[in-house]
Amino acid sequence: MARIGLVAHDDKKADMAEWAAANAAVLSRHTLYATGTTGGRVREETGLEVALLKSGPLGGDQQLGAMIAEGKLDALVFFIDPLTALPHDVDVKALTRLATLYDTLFACNRSTADAVLKAL
Ligand code: PGA
Repeated sequence: MARIGLVAHDDKKADMAEWAAANAAVLSRHTLYATGTTGGRVREETGLEVALLKSGPLGGDQQLGAMIAEGKLDALVFFIDPLTALPHDVDVKALTRLATLYDTLFACNRSTADAVLKAL
């Protein structure tokens, strides 16, 4: 069982919900953490148990980063919106930086997320 973090930017939340629904059986075997809005959406659409952190722009991205730094997260699925400038870009950078630094399994699009799930 792995500890997986889920984050999706606003224009990617539908993708995340769809991906989570398509993989609900596999995801149910893992422990899921998510930024507030993403997690609420995944919960609603899949019925999966998801521990909700703060909303990303209000510190949720940083909470996931802290979990990575403390060795409490095994994989991160972070559907980043590459077409929109975000006010919390610094938090996005900090989270992707820590995932890279700590060699965390890290998917930022759907095909990589599929590959990560297979790897777990
Ligand atoms: P949210 O945060 O799930 O609370 O919308 C995601 C993000 O970091 O933009």
